[in-house]
Amino acid sequence: MGDRLSPEARSAHMRLIRKKNTRPEVRVRKLLHSLGYRFRLHRHDLPGSPDIVLPKHMTAIFVHGCFWHQHAGCRLARKPKSRLDYWLPKLERNAMRDQEIDMRLRELGWHSATIWECETRHEESLRGRLLVLLS
Ligand SMILES: [Zn+2]
Repeated sequence: MGDRLSPEARSAHMRLIRKKNTRPEVRVRKLLHSLGYRFRLHRHDLPGSPDIVLPKHMTAIFVHGCFWHQHAGCRLARKPKSRLDYWLPKLERNAMRDQEIDMRLRELGWHSATIWECETRHEESLRGRLLVLLS
């Protein structure tokens, strides 16, 4: 990776990486690791660059922030109260993009799953969720 990157490009890249290694994502990774699963991160050759990819299970996992991806019925996903003309189209675009990525992955024969930020808060239930997902 990039000594050829300009300082601007590098800091943009670092921002992207930080955003990708969110705390919920790290929780899911740790748990998968402790359960003995082998996985890869951020496969850019797959639609949507899934956060976690389990090749043996043909499963792509997205760990999504409840607000940014509008987790239905979740209290973390409450709509903002101001600047709606800015937020609503943005959040709708995210949700549409998620659906499209899900469809494209399925067309390629992958299982696509979303783990929500709020689901990563309780280790026991997250463990159960992952075991069901990968059974
Ligand atoms: Zn949620």
